[in-house]
Amino acid sequence: MSQFLPLGKYSFGLGDRFGQQGKAQLRACALATGLGAHFVPVWNKSNREHSFIGSEPSSLRAEAEAAVKALGWKTPYHVDADHIRLETVDRFIAPSDFFTLDVADSIGKPASAADVKAFVDRHPELIGTVAIPHIAQPFAITRAEVERVANKFLLAVQDAGKIYQHIAKSKGVANFITEVSMDETDSPQTPPELLIILAAIADQKIPIQTIAPKFTGRFNKGVDYAGDVKQFEKEFNEDLAVIAFAIRKYGLPMSLKLSVHSGSDKFSIYEPMRRALKKFDAGVHVKTAGTTWLEELIGLAEAGGDGLEIAKEIYAYAIEHVDEFCAPYASVIDIDKSKLPSATTVNGWSSLQFVSALRHDQKNPGYNPSFRQLLHVSFKVAAKKGDRYLNALKKHEAVVARNVTENLFERHMKPLLPGK
Ligand SMILES: [Zn+2]
Repeated sequence: MSQFLPLGKYSFGLGDRFGQQGKAQLRACALATGLGAHFVPVWNKSNREHSFIGSEPSSLRAEAEAAVKALGWKTPYHVDADHIRLETVDRFIAPSDFFTLDVADSIGKPASAADVKAFVDRHPELIGTVAIPHIAQPFAITRAEVERVANKFLLAVQDAGKIYQHIAKSKGVANFITEVSMDETDSPQTPPELLIILAAIADQKIPIQTIAPKFTGRFNKGVDYAGDVKQFEKEFNEDLAVIAFAIRKYGLPMSLKLSVHSGSDKFSIYEPMRRALKKFDAGVHVKTAGTTWLEELIGLAEAGGDGLEIAKEIYAYAIEHVDEFCAPYASVIDIDKSKLPSATTVNGWSSLQFVSALRHDQKNPGYNPSFRQLLHVSFKVAAKKGDRYLNALKKHEAVVARNVTENLFERHMKPLLPGK
């Protein structure tokens, strides 16, 4: 495997739609370090987010550097070109040192018959009984099954190889981290499929350090995991076992680990994840983004006055455009429209009522996951307000920053702390 920029064992993806919370986010990493757990900060922003907000990838690098300087952060940090493809990667190459190659669109499209046959012939070890340490029941994989999986995923992996080579050519192999993401697709990848995918990635000589599969269950935006926690735990453990096995078998980077996308707010799976990571002595990358935008709104609402007013205006606009805003996110939100309060109701709310409905505190009887999810997908409303929104964030910086830091540290990093 060629050289690559190494990624630390625990890393945390910090998305920030409006680019104002870099310091508050980094402070959460500093607090975790204070507890003996080092989360490498990775600022991530996808091509899609940049186009919604109208920002350039270089602005994310500038934000990260400003935060690092302000806090005197001395250890590594990275800037992730999130969910890029061959057509969109170029403007990310200079400012990024972490690339999430999104090849989900090619899943299910078959590679050439000759390539599939060559892959299956090259990997007799995948056929038959495949015993993997820490997986009780060995995988029983037929040749037909390897062919099926290759037909489904080989083209996607070949695409990843092309994007990797393209970046490597202009950036140099030693200067970046590679993630491959397959989360934005219909069906989850099973642990045996993950093994076959990793064999194909090794064939492409991609020094992959994080892989984002689609896990079982729903990873809705900004709210808790919805699904069978026991089944998730079983598959998460098996995925870790498969990764440890594939590292040895195929010479993949020792630092290869899982990347959990839409990783924010999945409170009910953090403890199973923490247990599994401890058992395997494995690292993890947890990617978050929208949760920080919601903390901005919470901070504004908590500030009261013009802060609360702008938060209410954003909701009033969002509820009027509920179908339009929700449509693109249909597979990653679950909103009960009957639970959405009217704009008139919300306009009468106090700071406390607004904050209680929005903050992800499942013990608070005022917490309203439908309200929270609608606002999650409504950040374009704030983008349209332009300077008025940004000025409100600046004016109420202290209270917004406190919410951003506390959310990441208390509700996300602490439950995942490896040493517990
Ligand atoms: Zn993703």
